[in-house]
Amino acid sequence: MESILEFNHINYAYHTLEGETKALSDITFSVANGEFVAIVGPSGCGKSTLLSLICGLHQPESGWIHLNGKPLNDNPTSIGYMLQHDHLFEWRTVYHNVLLGLEIQHKLSNETRQKARKLLDAYGLGAFADSRPSQLSGGMRQRAALVRTLVLDPDILLLDEPFSALDYQTRLTVGDDIGQILRNEKKTAILVTHDLSEAVSLADRIFVLTKRPATLKTCVPVTFDLAADTPMNRRNAPEFKHYFNLLWKELNHDE
Ligand code: ADP
Ligand code: MG
Repeated sequence: MESILEFNHINYAYHTLEGETKALSDITFSVANGEFVAIVGPSGCGKSTLLSLICGLHQPESGWIHLNGKPLNDNPTSIGYMLQHDHLFEWRTVYHNVLLGLEIQHKLSNETRQKARKLLDAYGLGAFADSRPSQLSGGMRQRAALVRTLVLDPDILLLDEPFSALDYQTRLTVGDDIGQILRNEKKTAILVTHDLSEAVSLADRIFVLTKRPATLKTCVPVTFDLAADTPMNRRNAPEFKHYFNLLWKELNHDE
């Protein structure tokens, strides 16, 4: 498989009036096309910073980042970003929220409108297209936010703790649900999470970061011997505990 993302010896620090905060230290990895990677690490270690660098919001101090073999500036690879808060607008219906990105990118057409409808239907929101966001449950809102991102057909999807604002029960179902959607769509995804079981249930590989400045401590390939490799089946499989404990140890050795 070809890599869609290469992160090569990246260093990054924030500079403020109070001084320098080193966030990332010599981080190198690559992500294959279609792969689902989860990133775990202590709070404040630099996970969100790492995603910001991938979408070009910050420039590395040293090292380079390639998307599809090319530097970030002037790169045709499209990136989708999903955050903890869904940022749906109450003054728009669900359908018109989903169209927002298309509007901004001047990509509204009959074809893209149809695609929006199709995705809403496919992911259980067809009957809510004309509802307001406040009429949806937290999980449905997160799904609507995902549809808004997917309709733009991103080549790579960055997810920054997208389920952490949801209560535990909802987080489980929505996390599994969205993981399944991304697999169906064969999207390359990078998921930042502090929830180890979420990482194990969803990812092909898990990167463990150390505390700040983050270095890449270890990469854990995740394989389950399952006929149907779904997040729920993973949670019930014997391997699950093994991966969970392994990650737990890696994270707590850092203390
Ligand atoms: P994480 O997502 O892993 O919790 P972040 O990447 O958000 O961590 O932040 C890493 C470190 O950089 C933290 O110590 C944070 O305080 C600091 N930081 C984040 N954003 C800024 C900023 N804009 N200016 C200065 N320091 C920042
Ligand atoms: Mg963060």
